[in-house]
This record gives sequence, structure tokens and C-alpha cells, in this order.
Amino acid sequence: MDLGLKGKVALVAGASQGLGLSVAASLANEGARVAICSRSADNLKAAAKTIKKNTGLTVLTMVADLMDTDQARAFVQESAEQFGRVDILVTNAGGPPPGVFMSFSEDDWLKAFRLNFLSGAVMIREAVPYMKKGRWGRIVNITSISVKQPLDGLVLSNAVRSGVIGLAKSLAKELAEYNILVNNVCPGYTMTERVQSVAAELAARTNRTPEEVIRDWELQVPLKRMGKPEELADMVVFLASERAGYITGATIQVDGGFFKGLM
Ligand code: NAD
Repeated sequence: MDLGLKGKVALVAGASQGLGLSVAASLANEGARVAICSRSADNLKAAAKTIKKNTGLTVLTMVADLMDTDQARAFVQESAEQFGRVDILVTNAGGPPPGVFMSFSEDDWLKAFRLNFLSGAVMIREAVPYMKKGRWGRIVNITSISVKQPLDGLVLSNAVRSGVIGLAKSLAKELAEYNILVNNVCPGYTMTERVQSVAAELAARTNRTPEEVIRDWELQVPLKRMGKPEELADMVVFLASERAGYITGATIQVDGGFFKGLM
């Protein structure tokens, strides 16, 4: 299937490792010109090297802390200046800390809002004028399965990420006349560096091995395994492509069957 991504300009936020990196590499592999950001120049350099090694392609890297709206905005502005256009925006960042409701202060809520809602909204607002100009655009938000099935002990994620779905549904309608499509993907348990370190921390606290922690997670998944970052990336790349032309306002899980609801 030709995805029609050759020459498209794709911006992927939070992409020095994990799901963002995998999405960036997959988009580059399909011939898109890709810009990535994260907080650390060294990590970005390593990520760009990985993509170059796997695809032979060069990506644009930009240091930006997505908690800071000026830096989130600058990522889009400067990438757009370099490439002269923006066709695809993938919003992504790290997750908020785990914990139950009574353990968080107002400041914790504001930080989670900035990281997992506001950064995306700011980047979208910056990218939309470029997409309107080209009368073509794809916005894909990486959220979490927690927007369909709230996860125990992750109240910040459960609450703040749901707002992203509301935003995407509103934008899908507002931007449809410009052929700008807006969708969300919801990863379930997916084996990234972060998940490996969370497993190691949890193992140390609960007197188990990281393998035992991961096995417990896998047993909650009908497919009985963790997802691979590239399996999530394949969905994002499809939604970012020409071929997904009639899909907008959708929220799609890539979770091995973890979500137990009907829709
Ligand atoms: P990760 O921590 O491995 O990667 C996050 C990326 O975002 C990294 O490149 C990191 O440098 C960057 N980042 C983090 N904070 C940033 C900031 N303030 N400014 C700029 N860049 C920043 O995480 P991941 O496992 O790849 O997950 C990506 C997203 O998907 C997270 O929001 C995570 O909570 C969510 N998610 C992941 C899973 C999973 O199983 N991996 C499941 C559900 C949801």
C-alpha cells in the first residue's frame, strides 16, 4: 500500500526514545521529512543516529521542554521555517507521575495539564495555519488506554488525557473543511525504555523481579504480551497518511485487547 507520505513534513514531539522515536523512524521510513524534539540535545543526537542507522535518513532535531508553552510553540515554528510547511503533527510527551487523588497538589495537576494537554494544544494551534495553507493536514495525539479505561493509581493521566479526546473531537469538526484530520491513538502496555524502568522500580518495591512485574502486566492482556513500539507506530503512520482520508475524530486503541468496553 502506498501511504502517500513521500515528501510530507511530519513533526513528532517527545521523540528521543520510546513511542515517539518509533513513530518518527516509521514516518521517515515512508519518505516523510521529519522533525523531532525532546529536552536533551544528547538524547536527540542519539535518536537521530538511530533513525539514520535504521532508515538512512536524516531528521531535524530541536531541544524543547514541552512543559514550557514557548518552547512547544518554537518547535513547530522553527521546524516549519526549516521545511517551509507542516503536513503532519504527532503530539506526544512523557506521562505524568503515578499516584492516587489525595497524593497530588494543585501544582501537580497544573504540571500534568501542561505536559499532557496544553503542550499538544499549543503545537496544534501553531501547526494548523500551515496545514490550512496546504489544505491538507493530519494531527495524531498519542494518549493512553486510560482514556477508555481509567487505570488504577494513575489519576492524573486518567483525568488530564480525557481532555485531549474532547479537544480532538472539537477540532475534527472545526478543521474538516480544510481537510485536516484529527485522531487519537491509545497505547496499552507497550515495551519502551520507560516501561522497563517502571517495571524495575516496581520490582524493587514489591520484592519481585522486573520479569515478574512484566509477566503480571502481560497476563492482563488477551494477547498475553506487551506491545512493540512499532505496532503503535504503524497505527500512527496510517492515520498520518493519505490513505486514512475518511478517518477523523477517532480514538483508536493499540492494546492487545486490554480494553474491556464495547467501543
Ligand atoms: P517515554 O518516557 O519512553 O518517552 C517519552 C518521550 O517524551 C521521550 O523522548 C522524552 O524525552 C520526551 N519527553 C518527556 N517529557 C518531555 C518534556 N517535558 N518535553 C519534551 N520532551 C519530553 O514514554 P513512552 O513509553 O514512549 O510513552 C509515550 C507516551 O505514551 C507517554 O505519555 C506515556 O505515558 C504514554 N503511554 C505509554 C504507554 C506504554 O506502555 N509505553 C502506555 C500508555 C500510555
